[in-house]
Amino acid sequence: MKKGLLIILSGPSGVGKGTVRSLFVDDPALNIAFSISMTTRKQRNGERDGVDYHFVTQERFKEAIENDELLEYAEFVGNYYGTPMDKVEELRLQGKNVLLEIEVQGAIQVKAKVPDALTIFIVPPSMEELAKRITGRKSEAPEVVAKRLEKASKEMELVGQYKFVVCNDDPKLAAEIIALIIKRHMEMA
Ligand code: 5GP
Repeated sequence: MKKGLLIILSGPSGVGKGTVRSLFVDDPALNIAFSISMTTRKQRNGERDGVDYHFVTQERFKEAIENDELLEYAEFVGNYYGTPMDKVEELRLQGKNVLLEIEVQGAIQVKAKVPDALTIFIVPPSMEELAKRITGRKSEAPEVVAKRLEKASKEMELVGQYKFVVCNDDPKLAAEIIALIIKRHMEMA
């Protein structure tokens, strides 16, 4: 059996990664398993533990780092996020294409370990539009929104780290483009 791809999807906060992802992740032709990250961030309304993230304490996260349980991890606006290693390799060996939705520092760490990872960065149509989307999301305090916006500009500078850049002007179109990129790589693998 062919080993599955490792796909990294990144993009600044508010760009709509989750929406775009939801439009292609269940396509049976893509055979994707979504990697559920561990985070110390507080659960938002509507998020489910063990589905969207594994929500953990700082202590548990530190323990995961010390026990070498994480493929990568990063600090993002005051919280830690990391990819549990065990499932990623297991699923790829089962032929699944594993999707990591992670920020840029984590993506750089994964690329160093898995050079043939397929890297995709989603960009907003403009920074003004991104600011509107982040501000419009009512789940965060104004100071967190400001920090996420500042972080977004820094993340945009690292777009050169990625093989593909897809603009999320229209989520359906962005999802179709990403699906096409994945399909081509499945044929090439
Ligand atoms: P949010 O708090 O908006 O869910 O996520 C903040 C940022 O952390 C997003 O860019 C998201 O893609 C990223 N992220 C989520 N999980 C992980 C992970 O396991 N590792 C890293 N490095 N970033 C992650």
